[in-house]
Amino acid sequence: MQDLRWPTYALRDVTLERAEPHERGGMRVIDSAGRSYLDAVNGVGCAPLGHAHPRWIAAMHAQMHLLSAAANSFTSGPQQALARRLAERFPVRDARVFLGSSGTEATEAAIKLAVRATGRSIIVAFERAFHGRSLGALSLTANTAYRHPYVRCIDESEPADPFVVAQVLRLPWGDLAAVRAAFATHGPRIAGAFVEPVQGEAGVFPATRDFLVGLHGLCREHGALLGADEIQCGSGRVGAWSAWSRIVGDDPALYPDILWLAKALGGGMPIGVCLAASELAKAMGKGTHGTTFGGNPLACAAALATFDIIESEGLLAAAAAQLPTLQALAAAEPHARVHEVRGLGAMIGVQVGRPGEQIGNEIGDRLMRDHGILATVCGGHTIRLLLPYRAGEPELHEFWQALGRALEVSA
Ligand code: PLP
Repeated sequence: MQDLRWPTYALRDVTLERAEPHERGGMRVIDSAGRSYLDAVNGVGCAPLGHAHPRWIAAMHAQMHLLSAAANSFTSGPQQALARRLAERFPVRDARVFLGSSGTEATEAAIKLAVRATGRSIIVAFERAFHGRSLGALSLTANTAYRHPYVRCIDESEPADPFVVAQVLRLPWGDLAAVRAAFATHGPRIAGAFVEPVQGEAGVFPATRDFLVGLHGLCREHGALLGADEIQCGSGRVGAWSAWSRIVGDDPALYPDILWLAKALGGGMPIGVCLAASELAKAMGKGTHGTTFGGNPLACAAALATFDIIESEGLLAAAAAQLPTLQALAAAEPHARVHEVRGLGAMIGVQVGRPGEQIGNEIGDRLMRDHGILATVCGGHTIRLLLPYRAGEPELHEFWQALGRALEVSA
């Protein structure tokens, strides 16, 4: 059948139909030919409970019978409850919450807040960063192929593009000396520094504690805001609600000023949120921002159910155990062509091939075709696993065995 969608994605030749049912959420998906796959793509990290968890379905079902939509000029119970839950679980002081529908929309909210709250226009972002594809968010995104038709950085020679909403200063990842130098030159114009505590699309690279704490200190020193993009690494994926807390610890003096989430937050329903300290959120007065679907009662109910299930089923601990489990399997049975197994919790990158060798796509295809495992490839060389949080030794063992065979064939 002809595909009538825009050709924006490199398509894999599989039509997914349903998940294998499971009382704690399905971890395997079935295609239109009836073939079953272990799903480590997970809607790119959007199904932390696996698919179709019965309690998650029941919560949405209950909400569907009450209210399908509520304009943001009103409020609704699920919105209020979700905002409170977010403020309780995430490391932002006296947080106020903007409710949206996607990751890139949450990044937009963060950019607008940083610019408005400081009255400054430059945002520091890092090499290899990914913050979304809408125009403002895109200006922070590193990949020039995604960004150049629309938005340019101030350190690039081409003329500024009229779409620029905030100017971006891109700096090397992990390089505090470069951040210090940027503040020395542009300090009074820098609104904030935005960072993924674990870079995802780049190839799964956790930031060090020293880098995050140093960045926080420099922002404080220069009156700039620290923004943590936890769209991929937040919502429990790394084995704690927040990757910032997992890496930096829970000292309120070191909290970021802005933190935003999407992906796993809704358990599969589209939602994106941005938290900011209350004194900063004041800058976002009436009419400064908005979105029709944001705070949709169904999406909020889905997110609340996701919180409840993750907590009652002990899924943070399960997620935390994934990386050490795979690293133990790798140590017991090393594969010569695996360069590194890294990440945090249930956000895992397995770098394959020699440095510079881009064999990720070939191995990803073999895993799918020959071994029934779906995984994304990021950074060109890294197989990324974003399994449901409850996945453990059996699934990781299945992956590790399959990877060994896929690497042998491709050698
Ligand atoms: N920021 C990060 C760190 C992401 O990983 C992503 C998506 O992969 C985004 C932003 C964009 O989110 P969305 O695709 O929901 O717009």
